[in-house]
Amino acid sequence: PVAVSLEHVTKRYAETTAVDDVSLSIREGEFFTLVGPSGCGKTTTLRLLAGFERPTEGQVRFGGEDVTSVPPEDRDVGIVFQNYALFPHMSVGENVAYGLEFADPPGDVSDEQRVAELLELVDLAGMEDRDPDQLSGGQQQRVAIARALAPGPDVLLLDEPMSALDAQLRERLRVQVKAIQRELGITTIYVTHDQEEALAISDRVAVMSEGTPEQIAPPREIYRRP
Ligand code: ADP
Ligand code: ADP
Repeated sequence: PVAVSLEHVTKRYAETTAVDDVSLSIREGEFFTLVGPSGCGKTTTLRLLAGFERPTEGQVRFGGEDVTSVPPEDRDVGIVFQNYALFPHMSVGENVAYGLEFADPPGDVSDEQRVAELLELVDLAGMEDRDPDQLSGGQQQRVAIARALAPGPDVLLLDEPMSALDAQLRERLRVQVKAIQRELGITTIYVTHDQEEALAISDRVAVMSEGTPEQIAPPREIYRRP
């Protein structure tokens, strides 16, 4: 079954066509990555999926339903950005609990228990009382992932979540993100400019160029460019 699709989606800014007539379908449970150089339209595509932008033309569908005009808060998505957007004045546990406020309906376990489960999922069990600035960059991104997952979204959107980390932490976070995605089976749409990362982590990859995918295929079928 199709989780998310774009149908002839175009997004224009004044002189720029950021996304140019893109049609694609992402399957339920798929790890789908948009990869390509800076300016090729990856982030704009993700923002269209999140609902932060409205397409100039075309439709965005979630599970077959047209959500083109549905605002971000009414879409069933969790989002993690490049720079950890944790609330610095809140503990790790409070940051994750913040995400629970958007859960609908409220779960049958206590918020404390749910926060503990989410932190365990991202391999940060027992870290509730830490402050974000006591954590490494990779740990902070995992808290951001736990917060994004707290409302129980159907789709997880990740915008260059590893690009601020050094190579070693990036590699570790890549493995952890993949493990979290597998465990939940959540449809995940990932944006990166790093082709190696895209090929290592994804079920399918869309190689973007000038606002449009020039290939959409599983990693083994993607031809590499120097
Ligand atoms: P990527 O994420 O692949 O780096 P973007 O989606 O951010 O690419 O940008 C695609 C193109 O659209 C770029 O030329 C960028 O300058 C332009 N663009 C993105 N957002 C805006 C905006 N808010 N206003 C004007 N141009 C934009
Ligand atoms: P910018 O446009 O400055 O790059 P971002 O892409 O980080 O900003 O965020 C765009 C918009 O999304 C902002 O209005 C921000 O308040 C909102 N936003 C950020 N994080 C979330 C989230 N987890 N859920 C919903 N909305 C968010």
